[in-house]
Amino acid sequence: MDFALDKKHEMARNLFKDFAENEVKPLAQEVDETETFPRETVDKMAKYGFLGIPVPKEYGGQGCDPLTYVMCVEELSKVCGTTGVIVSAHTSLCIDPILTYGTEEQKQKYLPKLASGEWLGAFGLTEPGAGTDAQGQQTKAVLDGDEWVLNGSKCFITNGKEANVYIIIAVTGTVEKRGRKQKEISSFIVEKGTPGFTFGTKEKKMGIRGSSTYELIFQDCRIPKDNLLGPKGKGFNIAMHTLDGGRIGIAAQALGLAEGALEATVSYVKERKQFGRTIAQFQNTQFQLADMATKVEAAKNLVYRAAMAKATQKSYSVEAAMAKLYAAEVAMEVTTKAVQLHGGYGYIREYDVERMMRDAKITEIYEGTSEVQRMVISGSLLK
Ligand SMILES: Cc1cc2nc3c(=O)[nH]c(=O)nc-3n(C[C@H](O)[C@H](O)[C@H](O)COP(=O)(O)OP(=O)(O)OC[C@H]3O[C@@H](n4cnc5c(N)ncnc54)[C@H](O)[C@@H]3O)c2cc1C
Repeated sequence: MDFALDKKHEMARNLFKDFAENEVKPLAQEVDETETFPRETVDKMAKYGFLGIPVPKEYGGQGCDPLTYVMCVEELSKVCGTTGVIVSAHTSLCIDPILTYGTEEQKQKYLPKLASGEWLGAFGLTEPGAGTDAQGQQTKAVLDGDEWVLNGSKCFITNGKEANVYIIIAVTGTVEKRGRKQKEISSFIVEKGTPGFTFGTKEKKMGIRGSSTYELIFQDCRIPKDNLLGPKGKGFNIAMHTLDGGRIGIAAQALGLAEGALEATVSYVKERKQFGRTIAQFQNTQFQLADMATKVEAAKNLVYRAAMAKATQKSYSVEAAMAKLYAAEVAMEVTTKAVQLHGGYGYIREYDVERMMRDAKITEIYEGTSEVQRMVISGSLLK
């Protein structure tokens, strides 16, 4: 067991860190205030290869392991939660299922453009009536000759409207399982610009406000028969497996937010004086910081371990669920304490920690709420 990062990973981290400090941090507050998608930053990340980190070189990617990708999301999220989730949704939720389940033709068609960042990716599973209960979805796909016809809608889709390629989960019929009728669910690749595919409501959010969260609407949207991703009827399994990987990305986002808030707080308490001393000299401050740092380190170990499990194990659901559950709760706790240690200034938008606290909350909700992660973990203990 080796806890130290090797030279290759250290070099990659320095690259991500420099980019985050120089290109992302200066814009983070404005992106949040104006709720604008940071297109220029995304274009720059594309140039640096950040949008295809785990994609094999033969498909135009960087050919790196999941840990390198996790460190990228972590470093970006230290300064801007919005930028972290853009990379995570694109990579884990769109590239990964095409890489894992796509035919050679689908890989050749989509991966090089997604890896270079010419195209951005998104994933549509959630519907108004189907969140945690993902099988409750109503969007239908019916085969008509050489085309699938999609009807229905998806809500809360990250990278919505900005993305060019969407992985869409839809009902393709019914199947009988142990005498009971069940929905048959399949997954599809849908391109922006396809007639019948439009965007509805843009959500106004508490945090990650530069991330573009949209409703997707399908009205007799015809896509080629070959855009079925993976076997017909395996869409639910594909979605769940995709979310296992996505949860590692969100865990990395949460870790970055917690680390960013801790760093900002350590510098603040060393500067701010009350009662003739820096507030760092009060034992309460020291103990709060000690607890925050210890939890951040524990979260980091779980997140990195989940990334290693993705690289080496066929199933990594539990590792991913533990990493996401713990890192998200640590992010919420650490950012809240960071605001407290900043006093009144922590509540003022000029300081980064209030934005980090707002950004942290979503990590406990999307890609499976904390309750869902607890179901996954306890399910594996009790099976
Ligand atoms: C900003 C944002 C971005 C998102 N991006 C995407 C995306 O890109 N793609 C996508 O497909 N989805 C996306 N989502 C959707 C997200 O994954 C869902 O919101 C989330 O899974 C929860 O579903 P819900 O909102 O319907 O809540 P509900 O399922 O209604 O849950 C409400 C509460 O009830 C609890 N609950 C529900 N069922 C149970 C149970 N059986 N036992 C115990 N507790 C339970 C939940 O844990 C939660 O606390 C996004 C959401 C947001 C807000």
